[in-house]
Amino acid sequence: MRRAILFLGVLVLLAGCARPQAPSGGGEGATPALSPAALGAGEKLRVVATTTIVGDVVAQVGGDAIQLSVLLPLGADTHTYEPRPSDLAALSGAHVLFINGLGLEAFLERALSSVGDIPVVSVSEGIRPRALEAHEHEEGHEGEHEHEVDPHVWTDVRNVMVWVENIQQALSALDPGNASLYAANAAAYRRELEALDAWILEQVAQVPLQNRKLVTNHPTFGYFADRYGFEQVATVYPVSPASEPSAREIAELEETIRQFGIPAVFAETTVNPKLAEQVARDTGVRLVTLYTHSLGGPGSGAESYIAMMRYNVAAIVDALK
Ligand SMILES: [Zn+2]
Repeated sequence: MRRAILFLGVLVLLAGCARPQAPSGGGEGATPALSPAALGAGEKLRVVATTTIVGDVVAQVGGDAIQLSVLLPLGADTHTYEPRPSDLAALSGAHVLFINGLGLEAFLERALSSVGDIPVVSVSEGIRPRALEAHEHEEGHEGEHEHEVDPHVWTDVRNVMVWVENIQQALSALDPGNASLYAANAAAYRRELEALDAWILEQVAQVPLQNRKLVTNHPTFGYFADRYGFEQVATVYPVSPASEPSAREIAELEETIRQFGIPAVFAETTVNPKLAEQVARDTGVRLVTLYTHSLGGPGSGAESYIAMMRYNVAAIVDALK
């Protein structure tokens, strides 16, 4: 029964998951060959990013040399977002669109068919994706879901260093006149990311090994778990917030929380916390909210990628240590 439900959940996710075609014809997942944009005197490269997280990293590398728009509003859930035509206005006349890739931006396939010929660059190009959930493969689906990969690469800081490299290369190809600026910005930001990665490793050392078990709203922290020594033991939504868990799955989740003595359930700002609240209430554990798919607004403490990671790590360490 559980297997059937998981399988259905995966099908639902896959149905909304097709990667956008690069309109310039650079096959699935491949970065299109970019040639310099025709920029007039004083004209800036017009750049669009899908999520606020991708947008922040693009802004760090592009600095003042680019004119950046971000498609998703603060707090939007990438998995269930449906753009309005006005949201897509930024795409017309853009020189490049940066996406997270790996199936995260399910909405783009429809959107891009109506906006013409924009090169699409996946910032995650070259990152080796992990399977969405290892235990699903153990249940006999191995080989059936080759495209079923975990898109939440940014929870491992080293993957964002790969983003920086991809963004720098794309911006430099489109705007060679500012290549040295992009290289300097990228190098400075990479040093900040290295410091962030070291800080996280230092912080999580406060959490005893037996407490390093995460119960999150959906499987968002797989790369984080792999890098920083945690295990994602269970999630409220088995695959994505786009597919609701059954009552039986919720009961199994609550049993897991009791069995392992998990002290907290982590909700996320981009998804209605109703189910996570119910699970926390039923099991008598803390509910802690993390920033997963969107940065926070002004004053949130999660206004940038680095601030968001610091916020999340502090909250996780506080809840589990
Ligand atoms: Zn997600």
